[in-house]
Amino acid sequence: MKVFKFGGASVKDAPSVRNVLNIISKYNSQPLVVVVSAMGKTTNKFEALVNAHFQKQPTEAILEDLRSCHGEIVKELFGDDAQPVLEEIDNTLVEVEWALDDPDGLDRHFQYDQIVSIGEMLSTKIISAYLKHQGLENEWVDARDLIRTDNNYQDAKIEWDTTKEMTNRRISEALEKSNVVITQGFIGGTSENFTTTLGREGSDFTAAILAYCLGAEDVTIWKDVPGVLNADPKFFKDTVLIPEMSYFDAMELAYFGTSVIHPKTIKPLQNANIPLYVRSFVNHDAAGTVVSNRSDLKIVPSFIVKPNQVLVSITPKDYSFVTETHFTNIYTVLSAIRMKANCAQNSAVNFSFSTDNNPEKLKELERRLQDEYYLAFVEGAELVTIRYYDEKTIALTTQGKNVLLDHRTPTSAQLVVK
Ligand code: ASP
Ligand code: MG
Repeated sequence: MKVFKFGGASVKDAPSVRNVLNIISKYNSQPLVVVVSAMGKTTNKFEALVNAHFQKQPTEAILEDLRSCHGEIVKELFGDDAQPVLEEIDNTLVEVEWALDDPDGLDRHFQYDQIVSIGEMLSTKIISAYLKHQGLENEWVDARDLIRTDNNYQDAKIEWDTTKEMTNRRISEALEKSNVVITQGFIGGTSENFTTTLGREGSDFTAAILAYCLGAEDVTIWKDVPGVLNADPKFFKDTVLIPEMSYFDAMELAYFGTSVIHPKTIKPLQNANIPLYVRSFVNHDAAGTVVSNRSDLKIVPSFIVKPNQVLVSITPKDYSFVTETHFTNIYTVLSAIRMKANCAQNSAVNFSFSTDNNPEKLKELERRLQDEYYLAFVEGAELVTIRYYDEKTIALTTQGKNVLLDHRTPTSAQLVVK
């Protein structure tokens, strides 16, 4: 059995969905579990809807936009046969209306999950129906019947034993009926049958969870890039494809912010020694990248750029040394306000870190720490991480720039530059 994952970009419009059909039909002579994300930018739109709802602003226009975007794709795909699928979309979107009608005062994270998860419901229903319409048999499975999580909404944790049991039971039932199973990425369910989400870009993780639980032969993530590149072409011109890499390197790259693979994805695959392929849905005969347990691979220096960083510098007002107590104070606040230190360093009386520029969170950080600490902020920085750096790659990164922070381990250099 293989597990495939199609992200938002691979199902963003009708031609893309047809392309997905082409890819699946090349592989459906064997059991295939297909994980699909929400179409295109749907998740962002649902997030906007949730924000509007909580700011007591009108939500109708956003909802109508979601309805019409999906409706247009359906009309293009199904032509004269679109009506039943359009009705299915309407029925699915009714759940959003219900959620919006729920009494005020419901937890925002909870509401987010009930609403945003609908994006994956819509995409999988459309794709499953379209494959059938084109004669490709498949079973649509609700991911909430596969993936059991705790109730930490928006960042739910997997309950592995239950998930394994549910997944094996439900997927084997489905595979008895058809070789192709279509399910949603990114979402799970609690023991009380509420919907949870696994964090943005969580569909890769879903694919890995299912592969792990089912003991799949391999996982393929179909992307709009040829595989894992050694740098983002947005920032670097001479990028190269990394044909093979180890789980460890993939995990490090994901941790440092390579957006190609979701960070949580690698671990379950490594645990079960399941290879991960990252391949192009545009050029679907190309081999792409394979991530596996090999450790004898050629080393390729990789660059990961996080733009729009703020360097936060924190100094105790009493100029006491930055030791355990201060670390505890600072990290407690970071964790409470869900602010991530992308790279941190300390000296005797100073603790500095680079974080994504989120003005609201930065204000909150200042509010919570200003009694005891001096805080200073440098905006407009970028964090460049180089895996397998050398003098040449460091020079390339720092040329003509101010280095605000320089943190190195034997294999990685992290530089905050401006
Ligand atoms: N649809 C979700 C998101 O955009 C999950 C995913 O695509 O992986 O974050
Ligand atoms: Mg996505």
